[in-house]
Amino acid sequence: MIFKTAKINAFRTWGLLLTMIGMGLMVLGTAGVVFWGQAGKVVAGIGLVLGLIAMMGSLAIYFWAGMLSTSAVQIQCPECTKQTKMLGKTDRCMFCRTILTQDPNIANITADELEAQHAAAKSPDPADTTV
Ligand SMILES: [Zn+2]
Repeated sequence: MIFKTAKINAFRTWGLLLTMIGMGLMVLGTAGVVFWGQAGKVVAGIGLVLGLIAMMGSLAIYFWAGMLSTSAVQIQCPECTKQTKMLGKTDRCMFCRTILTQDPNIANITADELEAQHAAAKSPDPADTTV
């Protein structure tokens, strides 16, 4: 996870970011026509196409987040006692960012230990650490 936040919030952040980039590219492309006239039309075309792709990407992320949140489990955070949603077996609380889990095997470990576990699981060959 790039942002240390709940997964649903991370999806929203990326979706918003892509929408902003897409809109920015479209505005910049259109501004190209105003500033450079005929030559600016090429810039406008590229800007509009890239902007459209970014907007469609953000739409896909929003759609995906929407699908995921239907399968999210609503629980009460033990740390701040607010209602939060969980995606998957481990997620962070949307409010206080405490790591929550449904897996009894990894429950009651610290956040650092969990991140270390994730890092170990992501590396292609965990046994290859002696090199
Ligand atoms: Zn909380």
